[in-house]
Amino acid sequence: MSKYWIKINYLFWLTLHTVFIKLKLQKHLFKNRYGERILVFHGINQNEKNIFNSKFISVSYFEKIIQYLTTHFNVISLDDFYDKKFKKNTLNIAITFDDGYANNYKYAIPILEKYEIPAHFFITTIHQNNDYLWADFIDLVSYFTSKTKIIFDGITYTKSKNDFLSNGMTLKTVLKSHSFDKIKEIYTVFEEDWKDIQQKDLNDYWQLMSLEQIQSIHKNALFSIGSHSHTHSNLCTIPLDEAKKEIVISKFILEEICKTNIKTFAFPFGYYSDELLAYCTSIGFEKILLVDYTTTYGKNNPYTQSRFVINPYISLENQIAFLLKGSYF
Ligand SMILES: [Zn+2]
Repeated sequence: MSKYWIKINYLFWLTLHTVFIKLKLQKHLFKNRYGERILVFHGINQNEKNIFNSKFISVSYFEKIIQYLTTHFNVISLDDFYDKKFKKNTLNIAITFDDGYANNYKYAIPILEKYEIPAHFFITTIHQNNDYLWADFIDLVSYFTSKTKIIFDGITYTKSKNDFLSNGMTLKTVLKSHSFDKIKEIYTVFEEDWKDIQQKDLNDYWQLMSLEQIQSIHKNALFSIGSHSHTHSNLCTIPLDEAKKEIVISKFILEEICKTNIKTFAFPFGYYSDELLAYCTSIGFEKILLVDYTTTYGKNNPYTQSRFVINPYISLENQIAFLLKGSYF
């Protein structure tokens, strides 16, 4: 089938979905659309417009999605999902959050409690040193700084819109391939800009959960906690021993905070390797979450599950259509 035909076919399918949803005829459309999905949310904020972080959604949109999921599908905990406690003839859904933003605590938790929806929170444990992630730091300083050029690792980057570029590569992409020891050198370059940003009322865009907030989530029977590494580096591009440290340190820190065994892990950016998967199971992780399966070992491993990432740039109708399809392609 030609690419052109696939596109036409797909646009027709999306339009049909939108019309059915608008006419409240979903039950006919969803017939025979059974299955299981684990969803990934990131940050939640009050603003309808996504200015700084490409993965955030608004509180109102979040509530609309949750309302829709509870009305039409069977939403279960991650534990029940792994135990295959599925209902027949419907879509079974588990909800996860990545990164450990304080905005999850502030905005998502009250909504999840209102609808009695279970969720699992994957926490990045760097919050003990810095209460922000390096990628959000880059997004925000790139947006606000008056600097037009910066030098990092001997390379000059020029500001272009809200990014810093060198030879067509963004600073954020370059940093993604480094370990945190290297990444954090960028903090001194933008030290003054970051001080200014912290004075602005923008905490919802960067602040990670406090220790008390993590403990409070852990104590709530509706919710559970897992690890999302220590510094949110790409575990596949940093040396293997450092990647293993990232995983084990985060497990140790969360176990200290929650006083329990932490048995779930989600790979930052979804990047994983078979060696790291085997390491995760060897240190006691029993539920290992990816975004897509990129290896046969990953796909056939009983501990791993792929996830479906919520897209902040599409309508609720299209989001549901893609969710039912199980992919964006
Ligand atoms: Zn993440």
